[in-house]
Amino acid sequence: IVRYRNIKKAFGDTVVLNELNIDVKKGEKIALIGPSGSGKTTIIRMLMTLEQPTEGTIEVDGEMLWHKEVDGKLIPADEKHLRRVRGNIGMVFQQYNLFPHMTIMRNCTEAPIHVLGLSKEEAQARAREMLMKVGLEDKIDMYPSQLSGGQQQRVAIARSLVMQPKVLLFDEVTAALDPELVGEVLEVIRDIAAEGETTMMLITHEMDFALDVADRVFFLDAGRIAEQGTPYEVIQNPQTERLKSFLGRFH
Ligand code: ATP
Repeated sequence: IVRYRNIKKAFGDTVVLNELNIDVKKGEKIALIGPSGSGKTTIIRMLMTLEQPTEGTIEVDGEMLWHKEVDGKLIPADEKHLRRVRGNIGMVFQQYNLFPHMTIMRNCTEAPIHVLGLSKEEAQARAREMLMKVGLEDKIDMYPSQLSGGQQQRVAIARSLVMQPKVLLFDEVTAALDPELVGEVLEVIRDIAAEGETTMMLITHEMDFALDVADRVFFLDAGRIAEQGTPYEVIQNPQTERLKSFLGRFH
């Protein structure tokens, strides 16, 4: 459902990704691991259309994201095309960025009403279902500041699910949380993953979590995929010294 082909990404003269190829199947859960600066965030920001690849193509559900095919030739996509294909993708960030002046319910219904064009009733029904899924149905009338960080991050996850994205991206969603709040957020993601339908790409520094949730793990090192395979192969049987030393930091 997601296909990166020969991606190169440079910021000025600095090449941060090179000859990157990734295929993600429908329903698959992919974990991206690797040292800081290895290019993980850039990979998912390109899918969110927050960064444009310097070279190469990205496909989502059979459609090019950054390009359109016209008469057999690839031309850069226009804003309308980008917006449409991007509608298939949801993202949860490290900073949950809820609207502070809106209730939890309104935080979850703004986008479905204004972007998807759902009625208020439809949006609220979906939001209630998703807030139930993350265990916060009793908080719908509260404001973000009345919730803990872990609860706010669970709202951010519910807010993404309400949009019914084909692909859901998680960028170190527990990195900003107090340690005692990490577990509840990972638990919610585990539950969503276990339902099996949603394709997920997760950047994480939680190796036990990656081992549990991911179907495949990619180890990024200096802008390349240095190792990939099942969680067992990558996390429990690393082949390269680079990966062994990276994993060593988590023991
Ligand atoms: P982290 O775990 O710290 O988030 P990462 O693996 O996600 O790291 P990226 O954020 O993708 O790494 O960054 C890859 C490289 O690209 C880094 O060297 C970073 O400094 C550089 N980079 C990212 N965004 C920009 C930008 N807008 N301009 C210049 N360089 C950038």
